[in-house]
Amino acid sequence: MAVCRVCRQRAAVRLKYANLALCKQHFIEYFERRIFRTIKKYNMMREGDRVAVAVSGGKDSVALLYALSSLREKLKVELMGITIDLGIKGYSERCVQIAVRHYEHLSIPYEVVDVREYGFTVDELKGLRRSPCSACGVIKRYLLNKVSREMGARVLATGHNLDDFLAVVLQAYIRGDLRLLSKLKPSLPPIDGLIAKVKPLVETPEKDALLYVLLRGLEYMEEECPYAVGATSIEYKALLNQLEDKHPGIKLQMLRAFLDRIQPLITYEEPPLAICEKCGEPSSGSICQFCRLLELSRTKLAKNRCRKLN
Ligand code: SF4
Ligand code: ZN
Ligand code: ZN
Repeated sequence: MAVCRVCRQRAAVRLKYANLALCKQHFIEYFERRIFRTIKKYNMMREGDRVAVAVSGGKDSVALLYALSSLREKLKVELMGITIDLGIKGYSERCVQIAVRHYEHLSIPYEVVDVREYGFTVDELKGLRRSPCSACGVIKRYLLNKVSREMGARVLATGHNLDDFLAVVLQAYIRGDLRLLSKLKPSLPPIDGLIAKVKPLVETPEKDALLYVLLRGLEYMEEECPYAVGATSIEYKALLNQLEDKHPGIKLQMLRAFLDRIQPLITYEEPPLAICEKCGEPSSGSICQFCRLLELSRTKLAKNRCRKLN
């Protein structure tokens, strides 16, 4: 029987990458301590910060919310929650309910942003872009930044874990996307209307986030978004897990090699951000991607209405 390295009681988990067995209580402490260290290592938060936590209702963001809630006094930060209702039928409603139940249980002030207020849902945007995920990514980036800034947050924390981060590195590498590779950082400072963005789970493997929510008995959205089916990121993650099975610790090694040795060699000059002529939010062009999407969706909805009338 495996025993906890700290208290010698029966172990609840075995972390191959660290050659470590831990009981429930000591795994929870280990998980939260690693997040604390990650936050300090990458200067993610300062004392007195107001931190908006983006909670989708999935295991990663729920784990992040609870870990930050346990750490908030030690970090001396104030937490607030932000959830976007993407209007995906049979999915978004439950995600929002789960997030709200957690905010209320932890007494964390929060805001739910419903994309219908802007006149569309992710379901209705199907066909406007390569995939709904591409439109959804634009919406989430725009609204999370705008609303958390309006809520008075200095920092936006998201639940991207080690596997998520490496899957994007692989994708960007395969496409030769130097711009993305240069921007992939655990902590991005505020710039030109964009609030600081941090990923406190960047050194946390996805499986550990799942273990944390399971061991703490936390409710989370177990079902995948219907549009996630066939996403290449799932294949990249499977590949990374195959490697990890054979070589425990290789994912963390890849992260460190990328951040410490490869990324500093990538030089990519990002042009300064402009202001969107329509909404006044930061934008890479004269009209931001969100406003373009809005325009496209209005045209599509108007065409659909005409078709119905004819
Ligand atoms: Fe949005 Fe795609 Fe994620 Fe679904 S899978 S929440 S559509 S990015
Ligand atoms: Zn123990
Ligand atoms: Zn705009």
